[in-house]
Formats: sequence, structure tokens, C-alpha cells
Amino acid sequence: MHLGNYLGAVRQWVGAQGDEAYYCVVDLHALTLQIDPAQLRAQTLDAVATLLASGLDPQVCTVFIQSHVPYHAQLNWLLECVTTYGELSRMTQFKEKASRQDGYRVGLLTYPVLMAGDILLYGAEEVPVGDDQRQHLELTRVIAERFNHRYGVTFTVPVATQPKVAARVMDLQEPSRKMSKSISSPLGTIFMFDSPKDIEKKIMKAVTDTDGEVRFDWESKPGISNLLEIYASFTNETPEQIAHRYHRYGDLKRDLAQLLVESLAPHKVRYEALVKDPPYLQSVVADGSLKAASVAGPVYSRAASAMGLI
Ligand code: AMP
Repeated sequence: MHLGNYLGAVRQWVGAQGDEAYYCVVDLHALTLQIDPAQLRAQTLDAVATLLASGLDPQVCTVFIQSHVPYHAQLNWLLECVTTYGELSRMTQFKEKASRQDGYRVGLLTYPVLMAGDILLYGAEEVPVGDDQRQHLELTRVIAERFNHRYGVTFTVPVATQPKVAARVMDLQEPSRKMSKSISSPLGTIFMFDSPKDIEKKIMKAVTDTDGEVRFDWESKPGISNLLEIYASFTNETPEQIAHRYHRYGDLKRDLAQLLVESLAPHKVRYEALVKDPPYLQSVVADGSLKAASVAGPVYSRAASAMGLI
């Protein structure tokens, strides 16, 4: 998990957790790109540890693995049959990812439908996501409304919720591109468990501009604005207030690096303890999958029966 995932999505999940909150590790989605089976196996439980280390509490909310609840794959098919090829091929993320590879998988095209199912199975009213997922959330709403109109009211139509700052954390080396785990340069992405030395190096080397003024202005100063938003997301201040306190890029970067190191250190300590205990992680997702299936099953059955399946 990188800093964009945490600030854009996971930190909101932690804030919203409760008895009716469901979070899953989307291992089926991971198959849309080439991934070594051993790596997927290892990364799935690792992702559970990362989420718990970030603050999700399995006593408070439900944490499970997508493929352990078969209704996700089943509802996917029903929803594919109410979604058009045109809608999917217009998705920005699909166009970007497909343009970077030959012979992309059909799953890369249909992934937003699986995601719609992930949401609709739980009657979710709110889905906390980063800015890059807004379009997929909008498609989920279109699919749900179309289904309800065609087959009778079955699904809750969800809305996306986003953090006020850092809904789109940008790559530190290319601030015109979002921070991501796949394509960025090694210096562009801060991972949650980077060493303090790496965090410092990445922040100190972050691309800025030559005008030298610390000002919050995405249009003309994307590099500095990105740093200010990251900074603001760990304080109670706005990016503008932080900008007023600094006159030199170097001072801003040094303080931000220190703030990040201090803020992320407890996550790493919790993560390192959790990964040493796979049986605990397995028991969390076993309980979570049972609870998730008990909610998703009836919703799937309603949808299947509304479409005429006996
Ligand atoms: P993904 O990296 O596509 O698995 O995304 C997982 C979650 O993190 C989604 O809710 C995304 O919207 C969010 N996310 C991913 N990258 C960023 C980013 N650079 N800034 C903010 N949120 C992000």
C-alpha cells in the first residue's frame, strides 16, 4: 500500500468503520494484470495485515477476502448482462491501462462491473474512495439504477465519499500523474512501510519548480501543492495555512519528511507484529467472510430471482 491508497481511501475506511462497514481485499481484481500465483498468495494476507495495521479493527468492522465470498463472481455475471461494451470501453482507467499493454485481458475491461458487485452486494450507501475511482462509482450508480428500473428495486444506489485533502496524491517525481504502485519511478511513490531514510530521500528529492515561492496553487505549482496537501492531511491545517509558514522549499520538505516518518512509524510496528501471526490473520478473514456471505447471499438471490433465474 502506498501513501495515496492510505490518504485517498484507507484512512477514510478507518474513520467510517462500524458494524455495517465491510472491507475486502480484492484478490479477484488482482488477476486483471499478470501476477505470479505465489506472489498473489503472499500479498493477499499481507494486504490484510496492512489494513489492520492502518487501523481497521475486526472487532468493529468486517474484513474479508473477495474470492472467499462467491457471490462477488456470481453477481458479476448478472451485472455484465446489464452493462454495455461502450460504457466499459469509455472508462479512463481502462483506456490508460490497455494502451500500455498488448493483448490485455477481458477482465481489465470488465473490472468495473466486478467492482459494482462488490459494492451493491452489501447495500452500501457510501463508498470511501480516492478521486481516481469516481468514474467507476458513477458507473456503479448507472448499473444499479438500470437494474432497479428494469427488474424492480433490488439495489441501494451508492455515493462516493472523498477526503477534503489528498483525494488524489500525485507522484513525487511526476506531479501530473497520480501516485501509483505500478508505473511510477522508485522515487515517486512513498510506500507505507518505507524506511525513514527512504521517506526522507523521496521527499527531499520531490520535483518542485524554479520560482522558489511556497504557494498552494495546483495550476502552476503542482509539485509544491502535492507536498502541501500531503502535509495538511496529517495536521488540522489547510494547505494554504501551511504554505504561509514557509519561505523555503527545503524547510517545507524537511518538516514534511519528519512528520511522515513520525506518523507512519506506528503503522510499521503494528504491521511487523501482525505479519508474524498468519493464523490470526486467517481467522480474521474466515470470520469476516462468513459474516460478509450472510449479507451478500440474500442480495445476490434477490437479484438472480428478479432477473428470472429459478
Ligand atoms: P488501487 O491502488 O487502484 O488498488 O486503489 C485502492 C484505493 O486507493 C482506491 O479507493 C483509490 O481511489 C485509492 N487511490 C489509489 N491511488 C491513489 C492516489 N494516488 N491518491 C489518492 N487515492 C488513491
